Amino acid sequence: MAMAKKHRSNQLNFTLFTIFTFLTLISFFILKESNFNKPIPGVVEIPKEVQESIKNVKPQKSFRVPILLYHYVEYVKDEGDTIRKSLNIVPFIFEQQIKTLKNAGISFITTADLANALDDKASIDPKSVILTFDDGYRDFYTDVFPILKKYQVKAVVYIVPNFLDLPNNLTTWQLKEIAQSPLVEIGAHTMNHAYLSGLPLNRVEYEVKQSKEYLESNFEIKVTSFAYPYGAFDNQTIGVVKKAGFKSAVTAIYGVFALDVNKFFLYRIRPGVRTGDSLLELFRFESLK
Ligand SMILES: [Zn+2]
Repeated sequence: MAMAKKHRSNQLNFTLFTIFTFLTLISFFILKESNFNKPIPGVVEIPKEVQESIKNVKPQKSFRVPILLYHYVEYVKDEGDTIRKSLNIVPFIFEQQIKTLKNAGISFITTADLANALDDKASIDPKSVILTFDDGYRDFYTDVFPILKKYQVKAVVYIVPNFLDLPNNLTTWQLKEIAQSPLVEIGAHTMNHAYLSGLPLNRVEYEVKQSKEYLESNFEIKVTSFAYPYGAFDNQTIGVVKKAGFKSAVTAIYGVFALDVNKFFLYRIRPGVRTGDSLLELFRFESLK
């Protein structure tokens, strides 16, 4: 009797143990999977070594030019795609933002225009904004480009050549059409969306130079603006970007001022769903960095 009881309790223990192991394994895989899907967090401040290298350089030129950072502008079809949803601005809001800025008499310039002004080679309207789009998603062609044309406003799209023709990204032919437009400046965003900070020099050189050369030769354009994937850069990266012939580079660091000293780590703002006055605040208050 006692033996049978013990046997049954052993069996129960074994069953519980099996269920426990099974659940642990399942949650491990779910966690692992969700980590894979998590975007690498962007760099949000100037790295110490870069701060060090400019601490004695006096800024000569400074403009309050908010550079707005967009990724997706579309009506997201898959409700479960939380990453895309978090990076998305619906086209209706985007159009409202353009209307707000246009009605306020703000000029839409490109990063190339800003770099020229910082180099003292051209002047810009002091009330200017730059619209920038990272990664070259398909919706830049289907949703953004028509709005740019409708309002005749300029924008910059930072392209990752090895992303072209993927289902979610611009096709080569779409980019060829965009490249013909005087409204859009095409900038480079590395060949493979590489996290450049801390990468071996030859890899950085390949990612930076090759993306410029690829875009210039395939789309018959001059590429002088660069965007760091994940906003990640260090002194080595800046050196390579300069040497490759770029005139500016943008980060994901928050700020509305563009100075000649930070021409190779320009700040940007995620406009979110701001429209109307809350969007125009970016142009008004000195309290913002
Ligand atoms: Zn990117």
